[in-house]
Amino acid sequence: MVRIDGSLGEGGGQVLRTSLSLSLVTGKPFTIQNIRAGRKKPGLLRQHLTSVKAAEAVGAAEVSGAELGSRELTFRPSALAAGNYHFAVGTAGSATLVLQTVLPALLLAKGPSTLMLEGGTHNPMAPPFDFLQRAYLPLVRRMGPSVEATLERAGFFPAGGGRFRVDVRPAPLKPLHLLERGRVVRRDLKAVIAMIPFDVAQRELGTAGAALKWRPDELRTEELKRPLGPGNVLVAEVESEHVTEVFTGFGERGKRAEAVAGQVAEEVKRYLDADVPVGEHLCDQLLLLVALAKGGVFRTLPLDGHAETQLQTIAQFLDVKVEVREVSREVREVEVRA
Ligand code: AMP
Repeated sequence: MVRIDGSLGEGGGQVLRTSLSLSLVTGKPFTIQNIRAGRKKPGLLRQHLTSVKAAEAVGAAEVSGAELGSRELTFRPSALAAGNYHFAVGTAGSATLVLQTVLPALLLAKGPSTLMLEGGTHNPMAPPFDFLQRAYLPLVRRMGPSVEATLERAGFFPAGGGRFRVDVRPAPLKPLHLLERGRVVRRDLKAVIAMIPFDVAQRELGTAGAALKWRPDELRTEELKRPLGPGNVLVAEVESEHVTEVFTGFGERGKRAEAVAGQVAEEVKRYLDADVPVGEHLCDQLLLLVALAKGGVFRTLPLDGHAETQLQTIAQFLDVKVEVREVSREVREVEVRA
């Protein structure tokens, strides 16, 4: 039985989700205490509980402690089953994080799977759907399996109601080699609005476009039809020869459009200046895949709390060696070996 302390590192939901993913793949049962001890509202929220339920279904697992607010959980998977699944968070909690919990296991399962996921698709502190589709899944495909995601409806906090479909065809994970970003071949800055005044989008594009010095034909507004509630995100996509990265800012009540745009522009600039292929968020998510492939090397920015936490959680389940080398002040090279 693997024993996990949920307060380790970031002390967020990631410790739990990564443990669920790795338990499913390795078949090792685990118990976790202090779930999300580092967060304002500790314990299992809807999104985490949905991730647990999803993992329970995919791994035919025996689970105790799977209740809202629970700070302890024991999870014993029995058999991994590919198939058709429907997971609904039931609130605006992130459905992309639910997907990422079970995806590693389904990538390595015996047959194809189709998943319908419902909840938030564009949440602060979680991978937005655009990031999933344009940055994360293309790298999963490069490692072997085939995965396609289709957005049926966007869901924002607090209304939720987002929905997307994911088709998975498994294959063994091959090591990933991603040291160079290559030339930037396309840039796209998209201000998405749902029931939000048009000028919010224009101010976001104006501010971020000017800060980044991107051309007018690289900026656009997307107004969502039939949203369940209001929402606004600014999504910057940088497509380079060897990788695509996506950076997102979230509009919130009381936060100026210029502030949302300024943050996104800063993040993009930092990534472009460092000349690395992998940004901060992609790094922690990629670490799990590369660890499962038992091999790979990539260049990224200095590791953040989520990446450090990911490494500590991975070490509890997998026997892999991870080396993080400092190439320069803003560049790290991460190598994983069996
Ligand atoms: P936690 O805060 O522990 O629930 O983990 C959040 C996860 O969401 C981590 O894997 C982060 O890298 C990821 N994440 C947060 N914000 C973004 C973003 N803007 N784009 C992509 N991934 C994100």
